[in-house]
Amino acid sequence: MNLEAFILGCGGMMPLPNRHLTSVLLRREGELFLFDGGEGTQVSLRRLNLRWKKISVIFVSHTHADHVTGIPGLLMLSSQVDRDDPLYIIGPPRIAEYIETSRRVLDMYINYEIIVREITEPGVVYEGEGFRVRAFPLRHTKPCYGYAFEEDGRPGEFHPEKADALGVPRGPLWSRLQAGETVRASGGADVHPEDVLGAPRSGRKFSFVTDSLGFPEIAPEVAGSDLFVCEGMFEQALLESAREKKHMTAEQAARIALAAQVKKLALIHYSPRYTEYDLKRVLKEAQDIFPPTVLSRDRMVFPIEYED
Ligand SMILES: [Zn+2]
Ligand SMILES: [Zn+2]
Repeated sequence: MNLEAFILGCGGMMPLPNRHLTSVLLRREGELFLFDGGEGTQVSLRRLNLRWKKISVIFVSHTHADHVTGIPGLLMLSSQVDRDDPLYIIGPPRIAEYIETSRRVLDMYINYEIIVREITEPGVVYEGEGFRVRAFPLRHTKPCYGYAFEEDGRPGEFHPEKADALGVPRGPLWSRLQAGETVRASGGADVHPEDVLGAPRSGRKFSFVTDSLGFPEIAPEVAGSDLFVCEGMFEQALLESAREKKHMTAEQAARIALAAQVKKLALIHYSPRYTEYDLKRVLKEAQDIFPPTVLSRDRMVFPIEYED
């Protein structure tokens, strides 16, 4: 089952000619999930040639303009295709007011159902087949949430040679063992799934954190992520300024990634003060702490693979 993250925009605060505002699209076997939607989101969706008019859920970190102004256009354009499934929009308090006001004032014609859910407490905010999405609180100048997209665990690897050795004939009994059932071998003995399966394997995990102070409680929320997309707005020399504005530095993001033992950290939401050249310096600061760190760029694609 394919799981990929597309960076639609990597900038913070204001869009730049080559840097749209923060937005990430997660695609899981054709189903689409959007995390924030700043200006330029539609342009990247189009350039990546994604079938984006059928996004299932939009997760919103917070209602600052650089994270939500791309959404009304998306809602309107999504009416160009027929869809039976509703579109969910999930975010902090006032997201409903923002969506309703936009629809009303902009006289948007929308031919599908939009269900807006405001997060009242941290925890699972959306569940689909084989995965769930958890929201957890961040610390910003207004209510802001991070998200963790987690797949269910998978059974351990099946060892055919063990099934053979225990006298289980190849065929439906093998499938039942793989599905977790105990079966009877040819000799009459019971064979349990754990006799022929390796240790259970975890599913994949994607986390999205932006616009927050760096604080240690983020680490357990994003622990073990295969891909951790996190704000790296400032270099360490601007730590004080980051604290005042309730943002974090790339180095702080790297420390969280290290504590959380994620597989890969992709920085996002760069301050417009940094040129592409400057960002190499910001990246270096993060890599000194957590080597598997990369700079996300508009329209970059990160495949998220099973670990084993
Ligand atoms: Zn922002
Ligand atoms: Zn903000």
